[in-house]
Amino acid sequence: MKAIIIGAGIGGLSTAIALRNAGVEVVIYEQASVIREVGAGLSLWPNATKALEKLGLGAALKQISVPQADGGIHDWHGKIISAASTEFIEREFGAPVIIAHRAELLAMLTEAAQGIPMHLGTRLKQYKQDGTSITAIFENGQRETADLLIGADGIKSVVRNQMLGSLHPPRYAGYTAWRAIAKFDYSSNADYWGESWGRGARFGLAPVSNGRVYWFAVLNAPENTPTPPEGDKAYLLNQFGNWHHPIADLINATHESVILHNDIYDVEPLTRWTDGRVALLGDSAHAMTPNLGQGACQALEDAVALGSAIQSTSDVGLALANYQTKRMARANVIVNQSRRIGQVGQLSNPIACWLRDNLFRNLPTGMRNQQIANVVGHEI
Ligand SMILES: Cc1cc2nc3c(=O)[nH]c(=O)nc-3n(C[C@H](O)[C@H](O)[C@H](O)COP(=O)(O)OP(=O)(O)OC[C@H]3O[C@@H](n4cnc5c(N)ncnc54)[C@H](O)[C@@H]3O)c2cc1C
Repeated sequence: MKAIIIGAGIGGLSTAIALRNAGVEVVIYEQASVIREVGAGLSLWPNATKALEKLGLGAALKQISVPQADGGIHDWHGKIISAASTEFIEREFGAPVIIAHRAELLAMLTEAAQGIPMHLGTRLKQYKQDGTSITAIFENGQRETADLLIGADGIKSVVRNQMLGSLHPPRYAGYTAWRAIAKFDYSSNADYWGESWGRGARFGLAPVSNGRVYWFAVLNAPENTPTPPEGDKAYLLNQFGNWHHPIADLINATHESVILHNDIYDVEPLTRWTDGRVALLGDSAHAMTPNLGQGACQALEDAVALGSAIQSTSDVGLALANYQTKRMARANVIVNQSRRIGQVGQLSNPIACWLRDNLFRNLPTGMRNQQIANVVGHEI
């Protein structure tokens, strides 16, 4: 069996590895001329760690990631709203929460995908299929024929647009985010990780390997609000400078040039991920807001599920339908939950924020643990 994968992000590369492990001949096409990820951190929950272990990458992951200590949600003064005990997560789900540098995770996947043919600088235009095969047609006129095609081509997926029409555009979440990784002495903070909630504003941080800290800041804003004239760093210091330690120090320790700024989008849950010999995977199937830190984790679950589905039958259509059955409902629930928790985290009315913080503080532990388990306790 031969598969074409469109996109060499976390979803496409991990799927290439899963399919190769399942005995499939794989070829990857990527529009960018180099494989590159941004300088930011990525939280990988136990569901993702286990998926990577199933791909044979458990040991490689340990080398590039940092297991997190106790963390949770704080208010902007630093008072705990909702604790996340690392001992509970490890005991219940068999793995800690870990943070990896995105570029290092992508390098790890690229290294593991060595030997799989990869065509860079080649953008998919459309696909054509019949009862026996599928052909990918690229903007440069190149063509490739195979038994199946996986659209791992991200939130603005060309494959999704052809499969489902342009009815599923990215929808703006109402807030915008800054991210960066800074060299920072974090030893005096007992390695706490998590995020802090204010009014229409959040700030999160987590230690990454080699004495670095990943941080993000989120603010309500109209879509496409331009960078403030004083620059991102001065603007963020103005917005978050009076928040709890070590937020101001962390922003100050960050070079302006490494601060990334993106508006946040998701895609309304889809009702179909497959069309004959084609399937969607990763953000093309379930682009979600980053509030639960699950977008890439879900893509890794997809990769493992697709590998198993393909291995269990030689009927491509049936395998892809089984993959959709296994994955779509779960991913859709997480798309919706991510959106809701983002709306709650970005509340700006002072009374609503006070109610929110107290509600979360008084949430029974069993209920909170069950919510975590539903998202990260899943084993594919
Ligand atoms: C601010 C922020 C923070 C996040 N934090 C986390 C986190 O902590 N934990 C987590 O699990 N997730 C997180 N996510 C989500 C995560 O980044 C994504 O879910 C994940 O990167 C999606 O991977 P992907 O491979 O599906 O898509 P992408 O990474 O978008 O890759 C798609 C690839 O396809 C290529 N492509 C696109 N169109 C074509 C075409 N027509 N032809 C050929 N190639 C094409 C693109 O160039 C790209 O390389 C976060 C997201 C954001 C925005």
